[in-house]
Amino acid sequence: GRTYEKLPCAFYDEQIRTRQITLKNMADRLSPAMQNREFVVYYQPKYSVAEETLFGAEALVRWRTNPQTLVPPGEFIPEFERTGKIAELDRYVFRQVCSDIRKWMDEGREPAPVSVNLSRVNLLDFSIAEEYRAQAAKFGVPAGLLELEVTESAFAQDGPALEAAMKKLTDAGFSLSIDDFGSDYSSLKMLYDVPAQTLKLDREFLNGLNSGERGRAVVSAVAGLAKKLHMTVVAEGVETEEQLEFLKKIRCAAAQGYYFSPPVPEEQYAALLPAAEKR
Ligand code: C2E
Ligand code: CA
Ligand code: CA
Ligand code: CA
Repeated sequence: GRTYEKLPCAFYDEQIRTRQITLKNMADRLSPAMQNREFVVYYQPKYSVAEETLFGAEALVRWRTNPQTLVPPGEFIPEFERTGKIAELDRYVFRQVCSDIRKWMDEGREPAPVSVNLSRVNLLDFSIAEEYRAQAAKFGVPAGLLELEVTESAFAQDGPALEAAMKKLTDAGFSLSIDDFGSDYSSLKMLYDVPAQTLKLDREFLNGLNSGERGRAVVSAVAGLAKKLHMTVVAEGVETEEQLEFLKKIRCAAAQGYYFSPPVPEEQYAALLPAAEKR
């Protein structure tokens, strides 16, 4: 399975052209595209840093606009966010993930937790916790296998509404992950305000490691603080052995990145799951 990241240039040109044609009416194309099952969920495995064994996966959506074109989310998510359509797409992805986990269980595999991105609009939607709980239950998927990643910027304006929404989600059994931590001017206050189980260090933040001793000191201190708050620290965008060695040293729990694997199609990810123990 090749992913778009590795497609040849001619293909890239095709993607660009598709984008220019569709940008105008992209929001209108969402519903028919969902009906045509044009959105495909890829899975990027996460690995435990200490053992380098499978830890879980993140679900990442792609848009198959035609059989040859797999458009990456950066091309359409911003437009869907602008038009509010993202709420619908997130729900679609969540449902697909529940359906995939169900399939893996039916195939006799032991599913690992999957994290799904949740946009700010949905985080603030008071019905989302109950909706997602019901959706997972419909597929017989334990909520504990599902984690919701919310980008740190969604927490920028805090408030009682946000707090209540997050409590509903955790009460429904989902764990929460603060995504892209360190990509902006993150506040440490967020760490004690937000009841998240996971802290996901942004790729850019990890790149700070290249800037020598100071970068390493900051990453290491943030990871240490998160651990003291009983959060699981996950690093994203890990590309090199050196980065992994450093993450081992600071006892980061899990890592995700091209060093291990790009996002892959469902069947390819499923093949990584061990057989469930027979009872
Ligand atoms: P993200 O949540 O930060 O996801 C990680 C992105 O980093 C993914 O890009 C992934 O393919 C890429 N990546 C993984 N490992 C590496 C690496 O080692 N090096 C580099 N350079 N990149 C790596 P992708 O799949 O293009 O997704 C982009 C963004 O689109 C995601 O960023 C996420 O914010 C958004 N997104 C994707 N699916 C959904 C969705 O279902 N709902 C919402 N709301 N947003 C989504
Ligand atoms: Ca994410
Ligand atoms: Ca991220
Ligand atoms: Ca990121």
